[in-house]
Amino acid sequence: MPYHDRPRTLREVLRTLTLASAALLSHPAVAAPIQSGLWTLLKYAGRDYLPLEQVGRFYGFGGVQRSGAGFVIGSGDRTLRGAADSSDLHISRIKCILSYPVTEISGILCISRVDLVKLVEPVLRPFKIEGASRVDSVVLDAGHGGSDCGAVGRLGDEKTFTLDVALRASDLLARAGYKVVLTRSSDEYVALEDRVRVANRLPAALFISIHFNSGGLGTGVETYAMSPRGVPSMSVDSAPVAEFVAYPGNARDSENAALATATHAALVARSGMFDRGIKRSRFFVLREASLPGVLMEAGFLSNPEDMHRIASPWYRQQVAGAILEAVRNYRRAVGGQTV
Ligand SMILES: [Zn+2]
Repeated sequence: MPYHDRPRTLREVLRTLTLASAALLSHPAVAAPIQSGLWTLLKYAGRDYLPLEQVGRFYGFGGVQRSGAGFVIGSGDRTLRGAADSSDLHISRIKCILSYPVTEISGILCISRVDLVKLVEPVLRPFKIEGASRVDSVVLDAGHGGSDCGAVGRLGDEKTFTLDVALRASDLLARAGYKVVLTRSSDEYVALEDRVRVANRLPAALFISIHFNSGGLGTGVETYAMSPRGVPSMSVDSAPVAEFVAYPGNARDSENAALATATHAALVARSGMFDRGIKRSRFFVLREASLPGVLMEAGFLSNPEDMHRIASPWYRQQVAGAILEAVRNYRRAVGGQTV
């Protein structure tokens, strides 16, 4: 690669590196890192990695400051914070769970290319996502319903609480001037295919699926975005082969990450719950939706403390408020108008 050909945007960088990577793959005996302008591409466990030092420089954050296994890049509101061999990465104040841990390769702290492109970039620069600002409506998907109760809690079922949050959020969004479509508005069973069909009819909408968690004494809130192609899911939702399929939801990888950021920030702030981070999955509604989408898990019905909060109308109003804030934050972040 010509050294003087300095790429200006991340997209250019990645195009250049993809070519370089293909060249490396055709010469598997070549183990040396690939240099292109600012960037050095390293191979580890069959994946592409980039030095965090270069990532910090690219975004104007400055160099990596290390303390034991931990590191920080940047200061104030513009930081990347994590640790070697850990998948937890705080991008500014947003806790994200990387698809692959930060890895030290020959003494250099590196992030996987897929995490850089599909997570760090859209979280830090959502305004770079083309066409993302066209949003005039919101599809609210109350999880479960009818014969499908979802998680069962002593103070109520998941299906009841998700519908209550959806109705509250619908009211807030409508009053703020958004067109709102509900995948269900009563205690009825709606097939996943029908939920997605409703959503995919709207050309300029966001899709927000509302759920509550269960599983032992787990606690806190988490937000799922569709797994990019080739990375593992963090939930039990599909066969491993699905990793290599490009689903309709993958056409919105960048918007999905930006919407997850807006949603999770609002959910953590409003709920006051433990922050479990932004995660990846191939839940049916995320992989088949052709519009930007997220799935929120707003607490654990299997945890007595979480359950008491979820059962309180005040808490559910906070979650509904977080959904309105998420939509507003997303539109502001991608450079669209604010309502
Ligand atoms: Zn659920």
